[in-house]
Amino acid sequence: MLEVRDIDVAYGEITALRGVSLRVGAGEIVSVLGANGAGKTTLLRTISGLLAPRTGSIAFKGKPIGGEPAYRIVRAGISHVPEGRGILGELTVIENLRLGAYLTPKGESEALLQRVFALFPVLEQRQSQQAAMLSGGEQQMLALGRSLLSKPALLMIDELSLGLAPKIVRELMELLVQLRGQGLAILLVEQNVRQTLRISDRTYMLVNGQVAFEGSADALRNDSGLIDRYLGAG
Ligand code: ATP
Repeated sequence: MLEVRDIDVAYGEITALRGVSLRVGAGEIVSVLGANGAGKTTLLRTISGLLAPRTGSIAFKGKPIGGEPAYRIVRAGISHVPEGRGILGELTVIENLRLGAYLTPKGESEALLQRVFALFPVLEQRQSQQAAMLSGGEQQMLALGRSLLSKPALLMIDELSLGLAPKIVRELMELLVQLRGQGLAILLVEQNVRQTLRISDRTYMLVNGQVAFEGSADALRNDSGLIDRYLGAG
């Protein structure tokens, strides 16, 4: 579904990604692990069209998307939950959700909204509240719900677990498993190794902008030396 081949991405003189290749198949949860500054956010921003790769190629459903503007990439079926969630705190919950549907045909967005409410009943209950009043976990649900309203085939999430209590993280990870069961492909960037490996089909480890490991989540879990070396105890 997504095929990233040998991309380099730089901010001026600083090269953030070097020769990175990555693949996400239909209905797979693929994770990207790495320490602060490893290049995880840069990778997602490049796939989303917010940054342009200097070299290499990106294809989605067999079509090249590298260098396309972000709105076309959303329209092609890739949705990005950014680091920090990108919630507009002054707006209400429902207003934030409707922003996610801005490219979705009108006839479909109501049914999608009802599906999002079924996944996250709290968002329906709080729909007219200001988003800033939600807890961190609820804001992450709102960010996920808003992304789902663009009807993605691939959902990319930057640091799902950031700042959230372990119980909420477990619940949200279970939700991703449920979404995978409905056919969604998921690319999850994380620093929370244990919880992430539990739900991942395959995983990549980024170290200083390069892929240091690629394989099944089980293979990485069983190689604690690798995790310790690159990520600390995790
Ligand atoms: P974090 O978890 O801290 O967000 P990350 O793995 O997502 O880390 P990136 O944010 O992608 O890492 O950063 C990769 C590298 O690119 C780092 O060396 C960082 O300092 C650099 N970098 C990121 N954004 C910029 C920018 N706007 N300008 C210059 N350098 C940047």
